[in-house]
Amino acid sequence: MIHHLFRDCPFCGKNHGISLTGNQVIRIASFLKKQEKSIQDEFPDLTADQREFILTGICSECWDQMGKEDEK
Ligand SMILES: [Zn+2]
Repeated sequence: MIHHLFRDCPFCGKNHGISLTGNQVIRIASFLKKQEKSIQDEFPDLTADQREFILTGICSECWDQMGKEDEK
């Protein structure tokens, strides 16, 4: 069963969605309540873009643009 998480990106204002499994949805819900671990540790199976989207709603397009302006 695939679920979709939709959020409005705070930068471009577009509504974006990612596909998640039921298991991931449950883990995200409990992660957001507790936030005991870093999201990287909790969700190694998600991409960096997906993790950022869950935390902040920032879409991968805006994230790419920010990455270009702010190289680490
Ligand atoms: Zn965006």
